[in-house]
Amino acid sequence: MFKTIIEPFRIKSVESISMNTEDQRIKFLEDAHYNPFLLKGEQVIIDLLTDSGTSAMSNKQWAAMMNGDESYAGSQSWERLEKAVHELTGMPYILPTHQGRAAERILYGHLGSKGKYFISNTHFDTTRANIEFSGAVALDIPIPEARDFSANHLFKGNLDTIQLERIINKRGEKNVAGVILTVTNNSGGGQPVSMQNAKDIKAICKRHGILFILDSCRIAENSYFIHEREKGYAHRSFREIAQEMFSLADASIMSAKKDGLVNMGGFLAVRDKSLADACTQLLIITEGYTTYGGLSGRDMEAIAVGLDEVFKPDYLHYRIVSTRYLGENIRQKGVSIIYPVGGHAVYIDAKALYPHIPVHQYPGQVLVCELYRIGGIRCVEIGSVMFGKYDEKGKLIPAQVELARLAIPRRVYTQSHIDYVVEVFDEIIRTKDSVKGLRITQEQHFLRHFTAHFEWIE
Ligand SMILES: *Cc1c(COP(=O)(O)O)cnc(C)c1O
Repeated sequence: MFKTIIEPFRIKSVESISMNTEDQRIKFLEDAHYNPFLLKGEQVIIDLLTDSGTSAMSNKQWAAMMNGDESYAGSQSWERLEKAVHELTGMPYILPTHQGRAAERILYGHLGSKGKYFISNTHFDTTRANIEFSGAVALDIPIPEARDFSANHLFKGNLDTIQLERIINKRGEKNVAGVILTVTNNSGGGQPVSMQNAKDIKAICKRHGILFILDSCRIAENSYFIHEREKGYAHRSFREIAQEMFSLADASIMSAKKDGLVNMGGFLAVRDKSLADACTQLLIITEGYTTYGGLSGRDMEAIAVGLDEVFKPDYLHYRIVSTRYLGENIRQKGVSIIYPVGGHAVYIDAKALYPHIPVHQYPGQVLVCELYRIGGIRCVEIGSVMFGKYDEKGKLIPAQVELARLAIPRRVYTQSHIDYVVEVFDEIIRTKDSVKGLRITQEQHFLRHFTAHFEWIE
C-alpha cells in the first residue's frame, strides 16, 4: 500500500561510523596508494567492499551463540546445524567448513586433476583458483545475454545449456568432473538463475553421468527472483523454492558468509556416500573433526539460525528491493550499470562513465578512488586491475569489463545511508570530465588487486 519499504528490523546495538573530511580522505587514500584494500576500516564511512562476512547478526543469533557447545566430538551445536542444513538441502551427508573456499578445496581437490574439466555459469574466483590448483580446467559458459550490460533478460545468471552439451561431447563425458551452477551468479553481476535452467542442467548431467554441483552462497536471494519472475513459483515459499533447487543437485557448497547471515562459516553437502567418505577424510586432515569442521560451536549455532532468518519474506523483500533501489537511483542519473539489478550488489560501468580514460589507466579503479575521496565510500574494482594480464612484451591484456562494484552488506545500512551513496553520484557526475587515470607502481603476480600500489597520471 505504501511505497516506502522500511528496514524490517529495529536497531538494538550500534557501531559508530567515524566521520571524516575530504581533505583527510585525500591523505588516507594517498597513504593507501590508491588501493582501498589498504585503507583502514575506521577510515571508511560506508563500506561496500563486499557482502561477504559483513552481515549484522540478529538478537536471536547472538542469543543462540551462548548455547554454543564446544565439545570436540558430538557437539549439540553441530546437531542443530546439521539438522538445519539437512532440512534445507535434503542431502544426507553434511560437512562443516570454516568458509566456502575450504569446502571448495575439499571437493574440487578430490574431483579435479590434470585433464579434467569443470563447467560453470561463471566460476567465482576462489572456485576457479581451487580447480586450477588441482590441475583441472575451469570453463565459464554464461548465456550470451549476460555479456550485454543492458539486455533485459530475467535470468541473466543462467548457464548456456547448448554450449554445455557441445563441450561435454567435445571433451568427453568422462573428462568432465562436474558442472557447477552458482546461484546467484556472483561474478556475473549477482544475476539470478532460473529453476528451468537448473532442471535442464540436471537432465544433461544425468544423461552423461556427470556430477551436478550447486554453489548456493546466495540461494535465498536467487529464490526471491524465481518467486518474482518464473512461471509457477509465485505461490511457493522462498524456502520451498530453494529446497527444490537443492533437490536437483548431487552436491552443494555454501559460504555462510553470504546468505547464512554470519561473519564466518560454510559447509559442503553431498548425496553420495563414497564421495562423502572421501571428502570427510580431507575434512579431518585440513579443517577439523566431522562435528565441527573449521567452526566453533557458537559459530554453528549462528549459522543454523541465519539459514532460517534469511528465508523470511520480510527480510528477503527488503534485501532485494533495497539493492534495486540503489541501482535504479544511480541509473536514473544517467550512470550506466549492469541491468536489471542483481541481488547483492550494483555494478557500475566505469568505462562508460570515464570514456576519456583508457583501459590501461584503469577507469574502474579511478571510480573506486573517486567514490572514496568524494563520499568516503569503499568499493572494489572488477576490471583490468583484478583480471588484467600481460603479454610477453609486458603490454596489458585488459579485462572484458571495467566495473566498480557496490556490494551491500546484509542488514547493516539504512535507507539514509543508501540515499547518501546515491547523492555522492551527483558529485561523481559533475567532476567526471576532469578526472585523470592511474598507473600501477607496484604489484604481485597473483591476485594483484589486493596489494597493488597506484599513482595518478599527470
Ligand atoms: C564467497 C564465495 C565463495 C567462497 O566463499 P568464502 O567463504 O569467501 O571462502 C564461493 N563461491 C561464491 C559464489 C562466493 O560468492
